[in-house]
Amino acid sequence: MATEKVVVIGAGPAGLAAAQQLKLYGINPLVFEEDQPGGLLLNASSVTNYPGVSRGTAGRDLVKLFPLPEKLIFHRVTSVKKEGSVYRVALSYTDSVTALTVVVASGTTPRKIHVNCTPDSRILYDVKNIRDIPGDTVAVIGGGDAALDYAVSLSSKFSVTVYARGNFSDAVPHLLTSVKKISRITLRPETSGKTVIPEKTIFVAAGRTPAVDFVSEELLSAPPDDGSFHMCGDCSNGIFRQTAIAVGNGVEAAMKTAAYLRKLSAL
Ligand SMILES: Cc1cc2nc3c(=O)[nH]c(=O)nc-3n(C[C@H](O)[C@H](O)[C@H](O)COP(=O)(O)OP(=O)(O)OC[C@H]3O[C@@H](n4cnc5c(N)ncnc54)[C@H](O)[C@@H]3O)c2cc1C
Repeated sequence: MATEKVVVIGAGPAGLAAAQQLKLYGINPLVFEEDQPGGLLLNASSVTNYPGVSRGTAGRDLVKLFPLPEKLIFHRVTSVKKEGSVYRVALSYTDSVTALTVVVASGTTPRKIHVNCTPDSRILYDVKNIRDIPGDTVAVIGGGDAALDYAVSLSSKFSVTVYARGNFSDAVPHLLTSVKKISRITLRPETSGKTVIPEKTIFVAAGRTPAVDFVSEELLSAPPDDGSFHMCGDCSNGIFRQTAIAVGNGVEAAMKTAAYLRKLSAL
């Protein structure tokens, strides 16, 4: 198989923005997505800080404004490593592609925690597909913005109890104010870890960590600075995880990638 000019890993806001910018240079990157285009943004009940769209636009509606890449493949990338002058991007033990450049835009993965619950309870980590969940009541565990935003999304279908160790003081004030106005949401601050959560469906929003387990140690510890390799969006932004930042990062990664390919005379 021919070597790709650019492989983008992840079709969330960062990866989609990178692909859109690359298209301006005449490059159709090969984009791998293991789940749904739009990434974490599909979970956002109401985005109030993305310039140019109406305040309160649902994440799933904002995602529709991002063009889909022409070469979008639904597959999990299992490893990325440098092999001489190219990158090897593996999709399984046997299947892989090579690329001149790679943009990693893989976002974050939920932190898994032990939940004290009944044996038949179901633990879930996102709210983007809640249509088929049975019952009238669900629980959310977590005290930050994501937990409260999950509660808002879930309250369209369920009565929701949000259990937090603290008192929701880390949450953005406007979100906490909105949640308090929704009668189907009950907040349970200062919940001890020993409390048994009675709900049968429990959504956990207890933090996230960068989804970079597939990137080689070598690339993580000493990423090439020649413009051939970029990590962008939530996977590389520490606590600064916002859509506008991820999009900006994706555009920047694409511009630097194009400059590198121009130097190689590969553009
Ligand atoms: C409840 C909630 C509410 C939010 N509200 C707001 C808000 O109001 N305003 C705001 O600005 N931001 C908000 N955010 C944050 C915003 O969603 C993220 O900052 C943004 O989605 C990050 O984009 P990203 O592309 O970096 O990562 P992600 O959106 O996480 O996308 C990464 C993509 O990579 C894919 N992927 C990961 N690993 C692999 C692999 N190995 N192979 C193939 N594909 C892979 C994933 O499936 C995913 O689609 C919210 C987040 C949550 C959870």
